[in-house]
Amino acid sequence: RYILGIDTSCDDTGVGVVELLLGGGVQVRANRVWSQTVHAQYGGVMPELASREHVERIDAVMGDALADAGLRVEDIGAVATTSGPGLMGALLVGLMYGKGLAQALDVPFYAAHHLEGHIYAAASEAELRAPYLALVVSGGHTHLFDVPREGEYVLVGATRDDAAGEAFDKIARLAGLGYPGGPAISEAATRGNPDAVPFKEPLQGQKGFDFSFSGLKTAALLAHKAGATPEDLAAGFERAAVRVLVKTALRAAQAYGRETVVVSGGVAANRALRKAFAASPVRAVFPGKGLNTDNGAMIALAGAAAIQAGRLPSSLTEGAVAYAPLANPQP
Ligand code: ATP
Ligand code: FE
Repeated sequence: RYILGIDTSCDDTGVGVVELLLGGGVQVRANRVWSQTVHAQYGGVMPELASREHVERIDAVMGDALADAGLRVEDIGAVATTSGPGLMGALLVGLMYGKGLAQALDVPFYAAHHLEGHIYAAASEAELRAPYLALVVSGGHTHLFDVPREGEYVLVGATRDDAAGEAFDKIARLAGLGYPGGPAISEAATRGNPDAVPFKEPLQGQKGFDFSFSGLKTAALLAHKAGATPEDLAAGFERAAVRVLVKTALRAAQAYGRETVVVSGGVAANRALRKAFAASPVRAVFPGKGLNTDNGAMIALAGAAAIQAGRLPSSLTEGAVAYAPLANPQP
């Protein structure tokens, strides 16, 4: 009845607990994330340090998650863990921990795909029933999938250069707004004028559903050099990024005949993006609070979906994979 989810794919140690409800629904019972701070001084994630921090923290994070859920470890009935994609060493820590736990408790183990976790994070808010379109906008991905059936992913479009979150982070750094860039841009944008800096829509007129953020980044750099304020840069960039994400997703929804769009990943926390989707003709579903950026509960939710779909547990010999496209068949 209780599924424990673990994510250690990058620099967050996440452990969450999800309850399978009798009526078939799911409920998040705990979601603890330890965000590593050691990397700040290097200006980027140091893989070896990330692995070490996961080793040091994972026990405590799990203890906190179980305490939040009011459970003992013996109450856990299944364990789900991210097996990829992500940093190899970091992934291995969570995977070894999850497998060991499943073996010790003698419960089924499910290896989960990180992006599937991001998508299923939205199951905390509404039942996800295929078909739907899934837009994953995170620090490393800007991918649009069509999901015609449960567990089947067709890649519809992707970024040709930077991921959306990466663009928020880079422009925030350029404007001196700090890290992580998403929330900083979003906050500064409320005080800026979105018309002050011209941002041209990327890939205008394309027939496909790809994304590109490098042009917006260059426009931001030029405007910054010309003396634009951080607030105006933030407001103009955020509006342009939100527009292109929503517009492309809506075109794809129409082309594939989908009424529901699941929007997930760190950038899905963005208020302007949520507002724009809410005002659009599609039914947009977003993850609940604390479930947008990397966390363990989303992996538990992916595990819950696997169990509900009757998927067999993974083998305990399942390894970590640094590179693992979600789409099947792979493009
Ligand atoms: P991936 O899942 O692709 O490997 P990741 O796990 O590192 O990448 P997430 O944790 O899902 O990425 O998301 C982090 C990103 O989300 C960061 O780039 C951050 O700037 C962005 N982000 C967070 N909050 C917001 C916000 N309110 N608005 C825009 N972007 C945001
Ligand atoms: Fe992620």
